[in-house]
Amino acid sequence: MSRKKKVTQGTPYFFERVSIDEAFPTIQDVSAEVSESFDGVRDDWPQAAHYDKLLLQISGEEIKCDNRQCKGGLRIGNILRKMVSAKLTVFESIELCNGYEVYGKSKYKCCHAFKVNVSIKYREDKA
Ligand SMILES: [Zn+2]
Repeated sequence: MSRKKKVTQGTPYFFERVSIDEAFPTIQDVSAEVSESFDGVRDDWPQAAHYDKLLLQISGEEIKCDNRQCKGGLRIGNILRKMVSAKLTVFESIELCNGYEVYGKSKYKCCHAFKVNVSIKYREDKA
């Protein structure tokens, strides 16, 4: 890497442009199942998308919302930091999209929601 930055545990890896390995040295492997709803929290969630470590690295701090009017998404980085600080290996939650639809001067909270199921395998030597 050409740009050297001071990286500490839990550094937002998307905004700081560091790798998951650098931001979370205790994580050996991580994966997430993410199901996105177009109309809020529901009982029958659509098929989940599978994110492995590489895909999580590419999508970054935030998994983008499918709503094209919305620039928000699911802050998966926050979930990873929460899990790592509590040393959780599995975490399931339902999160509302953090974005807004903007029409001229009007702003509406995006109605998309995410059901997320994250699994982390920690490195034994750094646990
Ligand atoms: Zn959204």
